[in-house]
Amino acid sequence: MEYYSTRSARNPLPGHQAVIRGLSPDGGLYVPDNLNCSIPWNTLVGKSYQEIAEAVLNAFFPDYGNETIHQCVSAAYDHSFDTQEVVPLKEFRGGSFMELWHGPTSAFKDLALTILPHLLTAAYRMDSRSDTVAILTATSGDTGKAALSGFADVPHTDITVFYPRDGVSAVQKKQMVTSRGENVSVVAVEGNFDDCQRMVKEACSSDTVKQACHNVTISSANSINIGRLVPQVVYYFSTYVRLVETGKIQSGDPVTFVVPTGNFGDIFAGWLAKQAGLPVGRLVIASNDNNVLTDFIRTGTYNRERPFHETISPSMDILVSSNLERLLFFASGCDAEKTASLMNQLNSTGHYTADEAMMELIRRDFDAFWCDESMCRNEIHDLFEDESILIDPHTAVALSALHQYRAGGHREYAVVLSTASPYKFAQDVLSAVGGHSDDDPFAAIRALAEISGMPVPTGLAELESLPERFDTVIPASEGIAWIAAKMEGLSHD
Ligand SMILES: *Cc1c(COP(=O)(O)O)cnc(C)c1O
Repeated sequence: MEYYSTRSARNPLPGHQAVIRGLSPDGGLYVPDNLNCSIPWNTLVGKSYQEIAEAVLNAFFPDYGNETIHQCVSAAYDHSFDTQEVVPLKEFRGGSFMELWHGPTSAFKDLALTILPHLLTAAYRMDSRSDTVAILTATSGDTGKAALSGFADVPHTDITVFYPRDGVSAVQKKQMVTSRGENVSVVAVEGNFDDCQRMVKEACSSDTVKQACHNVTISSANSINIGRLVPQVVYYFSTYVRLVETGKIQSGDPVTFVVPTGNFGDIFAGWLAKQAGLPVGRLVIASNDNNVLTDFIRTGTYNRERPFHETISPSMDILVSSNLERLLFFASGCDAEKTASLMNQLNSTGHYTADEAMMELIRRDFDAFWCDESMCRNEIHDLFEDESILIDPHTAVALSALHQYRAGGHREYAVVLSTASPYKFAQDVLSAVGGHSDDDPFAAIRALAEISGMPVPTGLAELESLPERFDTVIPASEGIAWIAAKMEGLSHD
């Protein structure tokens, strides 16, 4: 299996080179050049998370070789998670939560960003490179810290994270600005996540930036990097296998996954799992007030020209879901020209309409629902009241989507992806369950611990006392100039 761009579908690269590049130079995203890497999930029953990860990564990245994949997997998943299972399941009335927040920064991004630095440095060794890889990352809150934590002091790399100044939670901001490491920078942007993401994408193809780079290669830790997506395929397999092992389903039964969705990375990984032979039922897209994807699935028109809402699930406050481009590419029958034309329309007019044939294929696999802020709060409240389970607002958006999906009469087993620890959004979770929350996020963490008895993740518990290292703020319009200056600083002979 090799990777080519959604906008050319030519000249495939081995996986490790696509990992180094991040975004294709033509502006497209790398996708597998064939989807038929059938992974025999039934042979994974009884295997550990790490063994399942190796099977999946070997299938998608054959160029690395089994031994290198083994080393990357052990480095990522043996010690940095607070549970041996890595991704445990928690049963509730109606299905299971897939708990993706047991890593170092308490959000699902850790599953990919603990391994991406190892995949990248291994790729580097394979090609005997001597340049510096400059990782540019836009974040809606969680990717930033997970990337900073994963790349801190990794040789030959430098990482800069751009976050929307007023668009992340207090805890998310504190996590980022207290990051350790000599090769890390954190920049607040006067704008929203889409502005940050556009800056990073533009930097990848900007001549000004290119001219500033000598022996510096720009890459990305966003889910536009295929090295982020493939590790996310793993937990769909591990979850399915655990459900078989515990007798919750019979081998071969379809399982529906409900995914709180922003940039369409997490749920697209589920679609890749389905293409690789996993018995995935439906993939249910869950959105907050920024319901651009729900409208797209219903109408076939993607329109980012709409009000942007800041919500209590900020990691999903996104109007341009980058990874949808990958789905469009496959839904068009790998028509790179058509994909490029839709993306150009989105860029220039703010909207596009996919044709009926494409939408029919997409609707075969996907459903979509959204909920507003009060529905989200009610989900958190009711689940805690009824089953003493505490969930974060992103997970609550997905739970609401599951309830709406079930109202349509579907009865197959369902898994809700639980993407962040409730402590990461402690103030909003506390007030949703009826506690009193003032302005101090750490007081809210302590109060939540008291009423729930759930242990506070180490990374969040120590946060309050860490010194803040970064206070740079830039307007979005100065992004390219700022990046060019930074690249000049990293350049060397
Ligand atoms: C990033 C994130 C999401 C959205 O995931 P995408 O891959 O961008 O769709 C959902 N929940 C949380 C907590 C996140 O950090």
